[in-house]
Amino acid sequence: MTKKVNIVGAGLVGSLLSIYLAKKGYTINIYERRSDMRKISMSAGRSINLALSDRGWRGLEGVGIADEIRKIGIPMYGRFIHHKDGSTAQQPYGKDSQAIYSVSRADINMKLMDLAEQQANVTIHFDERCANIDRKKLKATFEHNITKKITDTSSDLLFGADGAFAASRLNMQLQSDRFEYNQHYIDCGYKELIIPPGKNGEFLMEKNALHIWPRGSFMMIALPNPDGNFTCTLFLPFEGEKSFANLKTNEAIQHFFDTEFSDAVPLMPTLIEDFMTNPVSSLVTVKCFPWVFDEKIALIGDAAHAIVPFYGQGMNCGFEDCVVLNELIDKHQENWEEILKEYESLRKPDADAIADLAIANFVEMRDKTADPKFLLQKKIEAKFAANHPDKWIPLYTMVTYSPHIRYSKALKEGEKQQTIMDKIMARPNIENNWESPDIEAEILQHLAG
Ligand SMILES: Cc1cc2nc3c(=O)[nH]c(=O)nc-3n(C[C@H](O)[C@H](O)[C@H](O)COP(=O)(O)OP(=O)(O)OC[C@H]3O[C@@H](n4cnc5c(N)ncnc54)[C@H](O)[C@@H]3O)c2cc1C
Repeated sequence: MTKKVNIVGAGLVGSLLSIYLAKKGYTINIYERRSDMRKISMSAGRSINLALSDRGWRGLEGVGIADEIRKIGIPMYGRFIHHKDGSTAQQPYGKDSQAIYSVSRADINMKLMDLAEQQANVTIHFDERCANIDRKKLKATFEHNITKKITDTSSDLLFGADGAFAASRLNMQLQSDRFEYNQHYIDCGYKELIIPPGKNGEFLMEKNALHIWPRGSFMMIALPNPDGNFTCTLFLPFEGEKSFANLKTNEAIQHFFDTEFSDAVPLMPTLIEDFMTNPVSSLVTVKCFPWVFDEKIALIGDAAHAIVPFYGQGMNCGFEDCVVLNELIDKHQENWEEILKEYESLRKPDADAIADLAIANFVEMRDKTADPKFLLQKKIEAKFAANHPDKWIPLYTMVTYSPHIRYSKALKEGEKQQTIMDKIMARPNIENNWESPDIEAEILQHLAG
């Protein structure tokens, strides 16, 4: 039986994967480029907080650690929209208690590392940067950040879980014939800002919601943190009239925020300082193939499929990779050739689907959440879904709350639904007669046809 597994990267997915494999009896060594974030104060990566939804929970439940993570999450039951004129509106995400959870990236990563190290057979080696992987010999080389010492290590299996700019992936690309690779940057970047707690540590906006300031070609969002503050993320084009390129002076920044986000400005006392200090980061989609090499090396998480964050699914998708892999280990009784073959063939179409859905959701979040016609469409869909739950599950619900529906199926169903809704929304006077039985009958007819 294969026994020794090396994982490159102790990020969210590498750490969770190690727990799954440890529970199956494998001996795991994780090599992580960064220092141990539990010992030093540092940012855990790109975004400060992440939305965790049902696919992610399923991944955590699979190794019995969901309750631990729930302690550090804040449920968000819907979108809280801030219009330009200062008015607000709430849009629930799903039925009753359906929620996505805001978790600090650092907290969940540290917790996953703790839980991984609690397994007798997991060791995390910090400050070890993957410098090379010899595909033929299944040998990985790491360089220590401080001592510069080189370590060569062999294993029976190797997983590249080293994120969107994975060294493991690059190494496989350089040692493979016909490696498909596509990397796409959107024209918007993002910058993180903060809304601190009030004088008594209280939240200054609705705590249990994901706040959005949709403004057409750009938007700001805010997610709650357990200590009472909100992490705001401004998504804005790099170039153009309203862009990062045009926000270079204190006056320009203040004017832009006063005009676009007037209700947020009084809650952001360090706005100018934060804006000037915090970097602008870019957003990339990475698609590649294959993910598996010689039945012994595999890419997982962002290393296999980095996506833009607008569906809040990158981590969730990576955790789902672990769930699928775990099921396949049981199914193929540790025949790794079969496990990895099926892992790749199942996950690749799903990762491509969520990558495309995530791009499409950017338009929905920044633009359509403020569009009355779009909101009406969502109301019609919700009503129909409530009356016919066996016939219609809204796309957002399929992606976010239905971990048993594959992303690729959700994408296909969503396209079918949109075609039907385009016809419904084109009906005359739909604003006034959307509740009539005719509408329901027509949707049923389209579905049957
Ligand atoms: C702005 C933004 C917001 C997001 N919001 C959400 C959200 O709301 N919900 C959601 O589900 N997802 C979200 N994501 C996506 C999520 O962050 C990623 O999908 C997730 O972090 C992927 O986990 P990972 O372990 O594959 O990669 P990472 O978390 O990037 O971890 C990779 C690890 O590998 C290490 N590493 C890198 N190179 C090397 C090397 N050469 N040698 C050794 N180690 C190395 C890194 O230090 C890191 O620890 C967001 C992403 C961004 C950018």
